[in-house]
Amino acid sequence: MHELALSRSIASIVARAAEGRRVAVVELAVGDLRQVVPSTLERCWALLCAGTALEASRLAIRRCPGVIRCDDCGATTRLAELPILRCEACQSTTVHIVSGEEFLVTALQLED
Ligand SMILES: [Zn+2]
Repeated sequence: MHELALSRSIASIVARAAEGRRVAVVELAVGDLRQVVPSTLERCWALLCAGTALEASRLAIRRCPGVIRCDDCGATTRLAELPILRCEACQSTTVHIVSGEEFLVTALQLED
């Protein structure tokens, strides 16, 4: 499962960064173009961390919208449910993605 593999990589990043300190919250930025289901990711996280030092931690997931910028007219378009890579202003398809592909651990909240 996609989310389980992601949970494993998050856990290894977090374990390295925490250096033995107890983690309360793992803050994540997840782009809408990543096709990650937050509730599934949270469930996988709980499963994966059960019985480990990260058992008491939870994920705080911030979604980043899919946004493209047009190379022809410079306009930005926020992508709707189905990402169609076309400029809203001039209909050009010469565009690049400026947001939506993130998958980052942005911060850890540690317990005292
Ligand atoms: Zn355009």
